[in-house]
Amino acid sequence: MGSVGAKEVPVLLSPEGLRVDGRRLDELRPLRIQAGPLHQADGSAFVEWGANKVMAAVYGPREVHPRHLQQNNKAVIQCKYNMAAFSVDERKRPGLDRRSQEISKVIAEAFESVVFAEEFPRTSIDIYIEVLQANAGTRCAGLVAASVALADAGIPMVDLLPAVAVGKVAGEIALDLKKEEDNFGEADLPMALVPQSGRLVLLQMEGHMTPEELSKALDLGVVGCKSIYEKMKGALRDRYTVEPSAAAEAA
Ligand code: ADP
Repeated sequence: MGSVGAKEVPVLLSPEGLRVDGRRLDELRPLRIQAGPLHQADGSAFVEWGANKVMAAVYGPREVHPRHLQQNNKAVIQCKYNMAAFSVDERKRPGLDRRSQEISKVIAEAFESVVFAEEFPRTSIDIYIEVLQANAGTRCAGLVAASVALADAGIPMVDLLPAVAVGKVAGEIALDLKKEEDNFGEADLPMALVPQSGRLVLLQMEGHMTPEELSKALDLGVVGCKSIYEKMKGALRDRYTVEPSAAAEAA
């Protein structure tokens, strides 16, 4: 640990170019995705990404609540992102706050650009994201979980939405920031991508980057998203692939 003023600042990048948890700059944290763990929901997914643990559940298309949000030509997509009181080191005040409202809004908007909402007029597609353990990048983990949960619910979409936060740590562009890097780094840039077209449907930034750094960060994020995309498809394949022996038994 180094020290700046009263704050203890960890060494974010070693002379060998390794980060606080030993990763290289272009390395993701370990990611495990399970499709369909909840039986009551129409679709669900559980994501463990580094120390993040995030559950997503999807209901719908179903009746719209509150009713005045109903749209005659398409489904409304509603998202509720919530961080559990026990998800962070110091107990978080439970309930809605500005941050969770903002994250819910940007996630719903990201899905509006990929879900075929016109196929389900006068209905609602409801996405619930519960962060059980948080360690930076939870909006991206929530997006990944919700995306797999939507697919698990059979909601038609252009594509799955992989997401990752890229950032600037000790002057270098780094993929998938963890908590210390998010707290003490210079920038944090969460993004979500439609893999087939390369279109960004979520892009936010906290901190500062030069235009060259931004371009490098986006390139790194796209590579990260492609690898996350493969894991998302793998989770759905694991859930829906029927072993030949089981298929023969069912026949
Ligand atoms: P994201 O989780 O998408 O990176 P932020 O950048 O807002 O979103 O948050 C970074 C991290 O800071 C969170 O993942 C969590 O670990 C921590 N954090 C966020 N809000 C709180 C809070 N109210 N109390 C304690 N820690 C928090």
